[in-house]
Amino acid sequence: MIAQAIKSPYHPILAHIIPIRRCNLSCAYCNEYDRVSNPVPTAEMLHRIELLAALGTAMITFSGGEPLLHTDLDDLIQAVRRQGIIATIITNGYLLAPERIKRLNRAGLDHLQISIDNVLPDDVSKKSLKVLDQKLQWLAEFAEFDVSINSVLGGGMRSPEDARTIAHRAAELGFETTLGIIHDHSGQLQPLGHKERTVYEQIRQETKSGFWAFSYDNLFHNNLALGLPNDWHCRAGSRYLYVCEDGLVHYCSQQRGYPAIPLERYKLEDIEREYWTQKPCAPYCTISCVHRVAMIDLVREKPREALASFYPPAAPDAPAKLSFGVKVLSSLFLPPVNGGAQSVVVKAMAGVAKRLLGIN
Ligand code: SF4
Ligand code: SF4
Repeated sequence: MIAQAIKSPYHPILAHIIPIRRCNLSCAYCNEYDRVSNPVPTAEMLHRIELLAALGTAMITFSGGEPLLHTDLDDLIQAVRRQGIIATIITNGYLLAPERIKRLNRAGLDHLQISIDNVLPDDVSKKSLKVLDQKLQWLAEFAEFDVSINSVLGGGMRSPEDARTIAHRAAELGFETTLGIIHDHSGQLQPLGHKERTVYEQIRQETKSGFWAFSYDNLFHNNLALGLPNDWHCRAGSRYLYVCEDGLVHYCSQQRGYPAIPLERYKLEDIEREYWTQKPCAPYCTISCVHRVAMIDLVREKPREALASFYPPAAPDAPAKLSFGVKVLSSLFLPPVNGGAQSVVVKAMAGVAKRLLGIN
């Protein structure tokens, strides 16, 4: 997916598609659901998947509402996989059971994300570790796809320490963990309080010490946790698409209405235009998946700067501390720092690697 994304800038890397806006829960901070809507007809969903494939989309995520409420979700996942596209879902997990997980295996699901908000249910959220722990154990036992557990800070959650407990439990079960900051109704940061920032820092330190595997967009969240803006280019409407239940393309779930063009009429020129459009909401945006997509373009456009920011030096004057794998990749794909030519051996290896990855 990354090789394809690096090869060409004008195709979506990730599309979120909504098979149903209805949800079986009603979290107090959420503006992405209702209690009444019907599932989008399966034939229409299959058509939308074909349209996204024609645009060259690399990954499709079903979200909602609650996507497991769509009775033909397995067929939709299979349709995505048949197109060679990565299939993922974001679910509240309530409807998971051993047989349902096995059906998702058979459908070919690649990745599932559950966001857990607190340890005990309260009037803000029922996405609680106590309720979902059995589901997590079933996922650990039966899932053949990757699972990540997102814990959250902000948005009126009563006990920020819960985020740490949830992350520990997820790591104990062998899942990837992520940490999200709850946004307001336009996707913007609600600054974290002192207690929340302390928990954020604890999780960050534990991650640094390798206490558990914590995949994270630290670059963005470190600033947001301090209430600081990020300097980045949001590629929503281009590299990231949000396709609502009515089949319209929006920037993201929090910026519905822009550009609100039917997917059927969404063309290369729309993707190209939105690639360059500056989004005024970018500095305080908390939408993690769009940040991640933007990192791929940063690597494509300014690879050395990107690597330096992903692996910051221990001290201001020290060289960036790259991992061995990253060092190998940068010597294969990037021109030497001193401006000299690549050696014959490195050139030959780079040629083989590029052919394998399909990069010209
Ligand atoms: S489970 Fe998800 S979609 Fe449903 S109300 Fe809560 S946050 Fe919104
Ligand atoms: S910066 Fe992009 S992803 Fe974030 S709220 Fe704005 S349009 Fe959405």
